[in-house]
Amino acid sequence: MLESNNPELTSWIKVPENSDFPIQNLPYGIATSGDLIFIATRIGNTVIDLSVLADFGYFDGIDIPDLSVFYEKSLNQLAALPKETRIALRERLSEIFSVSNTELQSNEEARQLALYQSDKIEMLMPVQVGDYTDFYSSIEHATNVGKMFRDPSKALLPNWKHLPVGYHGRASSIVVSGTAIHRPKGQTKPKDDEPPQFGPSKQLDFELEMAFITSARTTLGESIAVDRAEEAIFGLVIFNDLSARDIQKWEYVPLGPFLSKSFGSVISPWVITMEALEPYRTKGPKQEPEVLPYLQIAGEHNFDIQLEVAIQPQNAEPTKVCHSNSRYLYWNMAQQLAHQTVAGCNLNPGDMYASGTISGPTPDSFGSMLELSWKGTQPIKMKDGSERTFLLDHDTIIMRAFAERNGIRIGFGDCITTILPAK
Ligand code: CA
Repeated sequence: MLESNNPELTSWIKVPENSDFPIQNLPYGIATSGDLIFIATRIGNTVIDLSVLADFGYFDGIDIPDLSVFYEKSLNQLAALPKETRIALRERLSEIFSVSNTELQSNEEARQLALYQSDKIEMLMPVQVGDYTDFYSSIEHATNVGKMFRDPSKALLPNWKHLPVGYHGRASSIVVSGTAIHRPKGQTKPKDDEPPQFGPSKQLDFELEMAFITSARTTLGESIAVDRAEEAIFGLVIFNDLSARDIQKWEYVPLGPFLSKSFGSVISPWVITMEALEPYRTKGPKQEPEVLPYLQIAGEHNFDIQLEVAIQPQNAEPTKVCHSNSRYLYWNMAQQLAHQTVAGCNLNPGDMYASGTISGPTPDSFGSMLELSWKGTQPIKMKDGSERTFLLDHDTIIMRAFAERNGIRIGFGDCITTILPAK
């Protein structure tokens, strides 16, 4: 076990009860205050500027050839550090902020410069996303969608249990929590025997997903073995893959989603490292039939991360509409990355790989409005008395994720977006 994951550890920085950010988390993000943009970590409600800690020599003992990684405006270079170096950095942060350590605690000048109250800063995109893939790895979600749109007795397509289905998505429209998104316009074909129409989407939806960010840089032609794939992952964020179902339904044959998923995907601002999630490993669902050798991996490669979605109508309280868990994913991240690279596609640090909508087995665990309202046939009641089948203008979608064990809660922070009317 990494010492930084020791559940007994406490920090000299105050951590409120139920905080997403105990000293065992130590996430990375990009924060801004005034004109400053800096690489940060967070403990409780305190955001810490790592460039200041680098200035004061707190990372001198770590083998980082170029300290410029701490002065970047994205985490791409930090993510690209070798795994052992990233572990050493996290262990060092854990040491500096442990309750009995006085190195920074007693250095008032450094503390004044490095520590911010979280409500005094804003979070920016943590990485520059070069490439983005959207998988389709939840068996419950794929089955639900298959039942709704195809033959219910053959809900899964023949390839689904043999490979992690995915498509290459749009990177430029991935934005950080807090960014509002305009309702998309596009072509739809509501009635089979009538011509297509153009206008604002009437079936705007969220998709509850997790995404991982790669650390590795590989060359064209190279592939990553499934049992080495997790080493190539930096960390995870919540991923709300906004989707226009009516546009999707008309455009997706035969090449898959295009404009219906390109107008905005929203991520949580803090990257939760693979190291912080290590204590929350769990077994995934049994894969039957057996997968091909390049996808076979033994051990625990799913993560027990609880997921929640709430919808907040304008000027009203939020209503929780979904509780799910990333442990339900049929295909794990190692398999997804092994599959992504098996044909020789190269990777870069900061690339993003979304899981696909994570639905569970029960109706309250479905990860999209499409499933929750069963294609719009079963409206969902909000606390303010209104009903939803799909998202309305001015609705705010709040996604949360956290892993909890031994009294330690490793949270992701909120992933929030508000739907604005079509432009
Ligand atoms: Ca998706």
